[in-house]
Amino acid sequence: MSESTPTRPEADRIRALLETESDEIKENTRLFNAARYDAVEAVGAETHEQYRTRAREIKEKSIERLPDLIHRTRTAVEANGGTVYVADDAEDANRYITRVVADEGADSVVKSKSMTTEEIDLNDALEADGFDVWETDLGEFVIQVAEESPSHIVGPSLHKSREEITALFEREFEPDEPLDSAQKLTAFAREFLGERIDEADVGITGANFVMAESGSIALVTNEGNARKCASIPDTHVAVAGIEKIIPSIAELEPFAGLISRSATGQDVPQYLSLLTPPVDTPTIDFDRADEPGFGGGDADREFHLVLIDNGRRAMRRDEELRETLYCIRCGACANSCANFQSVGGHAFGGETYTGGIATGWEAGIEGLDVAAEFNDLCTGCSRCVNACPVKIDIPWINTVVRDRINRGKDPGFDDLLVDGLVPDEEGSGTPLRKRFFGNFETVARLGSATAPLSNALASTGVARKSMESVLGVDARRDLPAFERTTLRKWARSRDPNVEDPVRRVVLYPDVYTNHVRTERGKAAVRVLEALGCEVVVPDVGGSGRAPLSQGMIATAERKARSAAESLLPYLEDGYDVVVVEPSDIAMFRREYEKLLPAGAYERIDEGSYEILEFVYGLLENDGDIDALPAGNGAGIAYHSHCQQRTLGLESYTETVLERLGYDVLTSDVECCGMAGSFGYKSEYYDLSMDVGETLAEQFEPAADERTVVASGTSCMEQLDSLLSPGTRHPIELLDPVGREDETPNGTSPLRKS
Ligand code: SF4
Repeated sequence: MSESTPTRPEADRIRALLETESDEIKENTRLFNAARYDAVEAVGAETHEQYRTRAREIKEKSIERLPDLIHRTRTAVEANGGTVYVADDAEDANRYITRVVADEGADSVVKSKSMTTEEIDLNDALEADGFDVWETDLGEFVIQVAEESPSHIVGPSLHKSREEITALFEREFEPDEPLDSAQKLTAFAREFLGERIDEADVGITGANFVMAESGSIALVTNEGNARKCASIPDTHVAVAGIEKIIPSIAELEPFAGLISRSATGQDVPQYLSLLTPPVDTPTIDFDRADEPGFGGGDADREFHLVLIDNGRRAMRRDEELRETLYCIRCGACANSCANFQSVGGHAFGGETYTGGIATGWEAGIEGLDVAAEFNDLCTGCSRCVNACPVKIDIPWINTVVRDRINRGKDPGFDDLLVDGLVPDEEGSGTPLRKRFFGNFETVARLGSATAPLSNALASTGVARKSMESVLGVDARRDLPAFERTTLRKWARSRDPNVEDPVRRVVLYPDVYTNHVRTERGKAAVRVLEALGCEVVVPDVGGSGRAPLSQGMIATAERKARSAAESLLPYLEDGYDVVVVEPSDIAMFRREYEKLLPAGAYERIDEGSYEILEFVYGLLENDGDIDALPAGNGAGIAYHSHCQQRTLGLESYTETVLERLGYDVLTSDVECCGMAGSFGYKSEYYDLSMDVGETLAEQFEPAADERTVVASGTSCMEQLDSLLSPGTRHPIELLDPVGREDETPNGTSPLRKS
C-alpha cells in the first residue's frame, strides 16, 4: 500500500507494546489524568483557567522577545559569576559541556532529570570521552540501567512494573537484601545515588524555568536529587532550551502550581528549587561532615548555563510550530490521550519527546521524517487541548505536520492512478489511503448513488482483501452501508407543515448523517418540528473534517469555504445551524477559526448548535416536552463523543434524556478508540480495539438492560463492533415517530408514552 510506513511491521510493533508495556502505562497515565481532574476541581476550574490564561500570555510574550531575554540572561548570569553558552545544536552543546567537564579534571558526573539533555544525547557524548555519568532521578536511573529510552516526558520508566525494576536492579547490582518492595527499591537507589552525588565533580541539571532578570533557575522535581546535583559538586552545569526563559521571578507564579497540577495532580511539586547560581551554599565534604560548615565553604564554585537552540529559533520563526515552544513539558497531553494510555511513548513518540506535543518537538528538532513515524497516532480528538496548562492547540500542530509530511513525499505509482480523478487540492505524493479517507464525501456520494449494489460489492471477500492491501483498510472492520435515499433526498420529498415556527433551523447534512446514518437525521428533523421549528436540509457539502483528519489542509480549507458560502446566507436570514455529528460542530466552533476569514468563522461559531444542545435550549424556552416520547425510567448507557466533551456539550444530552425520564448511565471513558478513519487502518486496528475495550467493559454489564447510545458516528461503529449492533444516536430516542419495530441491544422498543 502507499503509506511510507508499511502496515504489517507497524501493526506488529504496536501489538508487541500492547502486550508488554500497556498495562503499566495505562495504570499510571490514567492515575495522573484522574489526579489532574481532581486537582483542578480542588483549586477551582475558574482559578485554574485564570492561571492557564496568564501562563499562556507569559509564554507568548517571552517567545516574542526571546533575543532580548537571552541577552538579559547572559548579563545577569555573568554578573553573578557564571557563564552562559548558547549552543546552536546538539553537537555544539555536547562539545562545550564535555570541555567544561574535562577542564574540571572530573572523573564522574551526576545528572538530574532533563529531557533537553536526552534530546542532545549528552550521556553518550560524555561517556564517549571517558566520563562516568549517573542519572539521579529514579525513573531516569531505571532507564539508564535498563539501557532503554524514556516512555513518558515526566515518568521515563512509567512502562515498567515494580517487579520488573526489582528484577533489573537485583540482576545488575546483586544487593545483599532482596529489593521486594517499593520502599526497599527507593532506599537502595537513594543510597547508591547518594554516594555517586558525593563523589561527583560536576553536577548537571536541567532548568524548568530560567529567569532573565536575576539569572536564576527553577527546578521542579519530586525527589530532590536535582538540588543536590546543583549544590554539592563544585561545578554546576544547567542545560535548558532557549524557550525556558521567562522575564523574571514575578512571571514564575502561575507556573509553580500549574506544572505539578497538570503533570501529576499535585497542588505543588515536592521540590521547587529556586537557585541563583553559582550557589552560595558551601560545598560539602562528607568526610568532614561533622565539622562546622560541613567541612566545606572554601571551594571555588563554577556555574555554566548552556542554552540550547537546536532548531528552536527556526521554530520561533515558523508560524505553526512556534506554539510548541510554549510547552512546559508537563506530560498532561500524553496522560489525557487514549492512544497514549494504551501504547505509551515507545510507539507514540520520536527520538526524545513523547505524546501529543512530541510531533511539534520532533518535527522542529529532528525533522519531519522522525515526526512521520508516529504522527498518525494523534486522532485529533482534542482532549489534550483542555488538559494543556498553556492552551497549546496540539491537534492543529499535528495536522500541520501531517500536511507537511504528505507534501514532502515523492510521487509514487499511486499518483498515476488517481491524478486528476480525485477532487482534492493536494499535490502529488499525498498517500493514496489519505486521499481515500480525505475524499470520503465523494466515496459516499458514489456509494449512495449505486446502493445497494455498492454495499454488496464492498462486502465481498475479494473487495475487502483488495481494500486491505491497496488502502490498508482492515478487513476485520465492518464497512458503512450507504443509504440509497439520502437525508437530503428524503427531506426534499416531505411536506413539512409547521405554522408560526418558534425557530427556523438549518439541519446540517453531514456526510455520515446524509449518506449512512440517515435515521438520526430524520429523527432530528421530526424532533425539531415537534418542538415547533421550521427545518430545512439544504445542499451543503462536507465540513472539511475528513480531509483535515488526513492532514489535507488545502482541501479542508476549500470545503470549509464552500460550506460557509452555503450556510452564511441562512444565518444572515435568521436561521440557526444545527449539527448532528459532533466532529462537525467541532469543525464549526474550533477548526474553522484556522480555515475561514475571521468574520465568517465568528458568524458560524455563534450560530451553530449541536442537536441535543439545541433541543435543550428549546425546552428551556418553553418547548413542549410532552411533544416528545417519555423515557418511562428506561435505562440508557450513553457515551459522549470526545470532541463533544472537549466543547463542553456532553451535559446537554444527559439533561435532556433525564428530563424525559430516562435512567442515564454516562461513560467516563474519554475516547472510544475509533476516531474516524483511525480504527479502520490495518496497523491501528488492535490499538483502536484496545482503547475501546475500556468503554466496552464499562457498558457490558449494563448492555442487556440499557439501550446503548452514542453521539458520534465513530463511537456508534465502535460500540456496534465491541458490543452488538444497534447503537443509536440520542436524538433517535426523542423521535416522536419512534421505531417501534426495533429492539436495540435486546432492550424494549422505545415507545411513545
Ligand atoms: S503540550 Fe501542554 S500538556 Fe503537553 S507537555 Fe506541553 S505543556 Fe504539557
